[in-house]
Amino acid sequence: MNTYTVKKGDTIAKVAEKLNIRPIELLLVNPHLLDVTDYIFPNQVLTIPDSQANVLKSPFICRSEYGPTDVYKEIDEIKRNYSNKMTVETIGKSVMGQPIHLLKIGTGKKQIFYSGGWHANEWHTTKFLMTFVNQLLLHVKQNKEMAGYPVSKILDDVTLYVVPLVNPDGVELVHQGIYPEHPYYNQVLEINKGALRFEHWSSNIRGVDLNHQWPAGWEIEAEESPQHPWPRHYSGTGPLTEPEAKAIYTLTKDNNFAYVLAFHSQGQVIYWGYRGLEPKESEEMVTKLSLASSYLPVHTADSDGGYKDWFIQETGRPGFTIEVGVGTNPLPFSAFSEIWSNNVCLALEGLVL
Ligand SMILES: [Zn+2]
Repeated sequence: MNTYTVKKGDTIAKVAEKLNIRPIELLLVNPHLLDVTDYIFPNQVLTIPDSQANVLKSPFICRSEYGPTDVYKEIDEIKRNYSNKMTVETIGKSVMGQPIHLLKIGTGKKQIFYSGGWHANEWHTTKFLMTFVNQLLLHVKQNKEMAGYPVSKILDDVTLYVVPLVNPDGVELVHQGIYPEHPYYNQVLEINKGALRFEHWSSNIRGVDLNHQWPAGWEIEAEESPQHPWPRHYSGTGPLTEPEAKAIYTLTKDNNFAYVLAFHSQGQVIYWGYRGLEPKESEEMVTKLSLASSYLPVHTADSDGGYKDWFIQETGRPGFTIEVGVGTNPLPFSAFSEIWSNNVCLALEGLVL
């Protein structure tokens, strides 16, 4: 039998996808692995079956986790295929030194900003944004309409800024678990009280919640949240202490976004207000986003310290939090089909609000 050496970013489902087999076929020849959710670690050697099934491939069907290594690989491909239609920049680095990428598409004056992958166990938002960017660029290159939207023409008036993955270290932790060679092994285990599963983790690798870090009612949010590093909802020792949040802060300050859409999971709702500080047009805009997605508009979640909250307070412009999918985070692979079909028109409508 042949073998496969696990690489950084691999999961059982991802290895199976690379080999074009089903995860169960991989489990059957590696009896020490009991379930598709078992963690596998870099340099671990797996047996691979001789037979090769033919598994259907489609960008809209999700067969495995989507994390930093996928984003980096796909960004390289996008750069190769569409270099004259878009640019890529690194706007900062995570705690562990992984790049945080910004993709810019279009040449228009009006700047719009989409972001995802804020929370470690919400990786579907990153896959959604990367699939959207790929499809958008494909349609622009072929000069075709996308779901009835004349995207080439729209992108003469608009420049779309996309940060698909704000929290690469956290997403990697949820997918890979922790192992002694991991640079934050001791710290993460301490925060997680020795538990070796990470489905509930939404913070960055230092146990700070990147969407509780923003100077908009930060003190109020911090008081009601955990008081020390924690898998979720810890606001940090002050606003914007974490490099991932700082990168988004600087990007937002350095540009002139007309409005922002921050993608999270889950709930199938769109939050559009913050303490009544949102402008009048926000309500009309959220109605359009809701019609495009069938997601329900909700004024606020009665929380503070989020990026959308800060954006509204700071600029007086509209900001939206889109909660994609429904279920328990991390959502299953199968949730991606609904997320794609309900949000592709929302993301297109978001270009013309
Ligand atoms: Zn979230």
